[in-house]
Formats: sequence, C-alpha cells, structure tokens
Amino acid sequence: MKRRLLIAGNWKMHKTPQETQQFIESFLAGVKEFSSCDVLLIPSFTSLDRAGRLLSESRVFIGAQDMHSDASGAYTGAISPGMLVACGCNFVLTGHSERRHVFGDSDDVVNRKLHAALENELRPILCVGETLDQRQRGRTESVLEDQLNGGLKGIDEKVLADIVIAYEPVWAIGTGKTATPEQAQAVIAFIRDWLETHFSKPAAGAMRILYGGSVTPANVRSLLAQPDIDGALIGGASLDPDSFAQIIAAAMSLPGGDAPC
Ligand code: PEP
Repeated sequence: MKRRLLIAGNWKMHKTPQETQQFIESFLAGVKEFSSCDVLLIPSFTSLDRAGRLLSESRVFIGAQDMHSDASGAYTGAISPGMLVACGCNFVLTGHSERRHVFGDSDDVVNRKLHAALENELRPILCVGETLDQRQRGRTESVLEDQLNGGLKGIDEKVLADIVIAYEPVWAIGTGKTATPEQAQAVIAFIRDWLETHFSKPAAGAMRILYGGSVTPANVRSLLAQPDIDGALIGGASLDPDSFAQIIAAAMSLPGGDAPC
C-alpha cells in the first residue's frame, strides 16, 4: 500500500522566534516542490506562535515537541493541548527518547498524552526505540513491544490512521550513527506486523511509520527507499534550511515521489 511520506524536523531546544522566522523565510524561498509529501516543522514552544502565523498560508505543518495531557491546571512549566492548537499546531511528539530518558516520561504518561492529543485533534507521533545496550542484548523487539503496548493502550482501530509512529533507535539519535536501511526496515516491518496482530492488516497497512536517527541529505534516500519506511524524523539536519530542503528534494526524487497527492 502506498502511504504519503512525512518529513519532520524536530528542532529540540534550538532557535529563538527570530531565528525561526529567518529559517522559515529562507526555507520557503529555497524549497522547490513538495506536493506529494507532508512537511512538518517542530520548533520549541516559544517559536510555535510565530511559526504558525508564518506558515498559515503554506502547506507546511506545525508540531510541538511535547505537551501535558490535562486541559489546564496547577502544572507550572507545562503546556496544554489547547495551547498548542491555538498556536496552529497539527502534530505533537509523544515519547521522544529525550523525554523518556532525560525527563522520565513512562509508557503510561506517553499513553495519556497520546489520548489527549487525539481528543484535541492533534496528530500524535509516538516515538519508540531501543538503547544500544538493549540492542546488543537482543532485546530490541521486546523493548518495542512494551513501548507499543504501553503507548497505544486503549486506542481504537478507527483512530489509528491519525497516529504516526517514529522508530528512533536511541543509539542513532544525535550520534551520527545512522541505522542501515536494512536495520531500519527490519525493525519497522516488525512494528507493522505488531500493528497487524493487535489491530488489523488494513489498519497496519495505512499507518505511517517514520525512521529517525542521524538522517542527513546523504542517507535519506536509501532509508526512504525501503518499503515500510514512510518518512523521517530529523533533528540536527533539520536546523539548516538548505539541508532540510535537500532532504525533501531527495524524498521527492524517489520513484513515485512526484506523484500528485
Ligand atoms: C530527533 O531529534 O528525533 C533525531 C532523530 O535527531 P538527529 O536527527 O539529530 O539524530
């Protein structure tokens, strides 16, 4: 089944609103064409409003890096789903490895955020992935099963198509060590099989599963050429407008990549 590619740039804790504006102006001037893939920028909270305004007339989606699952309350420092929607957000990351490992987000917390996103018409991107130690101990599949079971708990098959999964091996994030296309394909095929077993073949076949971890303009094409990889979640290489535009151009150059939507 042909799924629409999604190319997402996660800026982590980089760029002020002014730097965000400079990026967007330069990126929109430089990116040639992306009619057949979805493009998503995920700036930090303080840049969301400005990015939302600057991109409101474009086909570029806006996402947030995290959120609280409650609508409001005494949660100093937290951001609610409604606040993100008001800034023009369409997507939100849940369970990025830095949230899991640095801030201690458990599968239960990730699951609550995922449900809250769907209730607020935000499309969640559920991030999953194993550490190097877990891979070396042969635990990759069991770690992913736990993250998928926990993250997708209570999810109805009817809303599955609104959820995106990003397979991001922790050992590949920000390290320059990309998974080989074959490694990424094998794990993403495993995730799709898991979805088929726990939901259905059509639901698993319709769902977008991205790869993330040291994606660059040089390696993105071979990753996206794999049959089960439906896009990329990109950190470092998305911070520069030319490099991000090159990644989109590489996606568009794949066979079928210039097909109309
Ligand atoms: C990420 O931020 O999700 C990521 C994959 O980062 P990088 O591309 O820098 O490895």
